[in-house]
Amino acid sequence: MNEQEFSAYIDDICNYYERKRPKDVTCDLWYKRLKGIPAEPLEWMLAKMFENAELPKNLPGRTWELYKEWLISHTEKALFPTTFDCPDCRDDPGILHVYAISVKTGARYFYAFNCAKCRQSPNKGWPYSLKKDLEEAGYIEVNLKQSNRVAPEQKDIKALIDNVVKLFP
Ligand SMILES: [Zn+2]
Repeated sequence: MNEQEFSAYIDDICNYYERKRPKDVTCDLWYKRLKGIPAEPLEWMLAKMFENAELPKNLPGRTWELYKEWLISHTEKALFPTTFDCPDCRDDPGILHVYAISVKTGARYFYAFNCAKCRQSPNKGWPYSLKKDLEEAGYIEVNLKQSNRVAPEQKDIKALIDNVVKLFP
């Protein structure tokens, strides 16, 4: 942050807590400690600071703490985007595509469940299940990348997904 941004930051804090602005010499010393912090998170940091009723005793120290909190919260956002790579539902994030074969007729019946491991499916009304539970119940995973191997009668993946039945039989 530049001196002007630093000055505005100190003014906001002093006004909020109804305190006198520190002496110039104090502000200069604080600025030396804080100028490495960019201006971008300052608004966020002020909002966090004001959650506390008391003016922090060590304002430069608290400012660095808040900056570290901001860095952590923003790194997490970058690391966990809205869809992420779940080992169970990699080909269609959040959804498990399975089928069962009718003992009587040999026909394949397709189903889709929300993946209960990552719970990132946008279809909130669908039933949730774990891939391992479906496998234990006898369902077979649809290989969406090689659908011709598992469903020769439906080579078109789009058609296959459209035909999916959404509930347990
Ligand atoms: Zn998943």
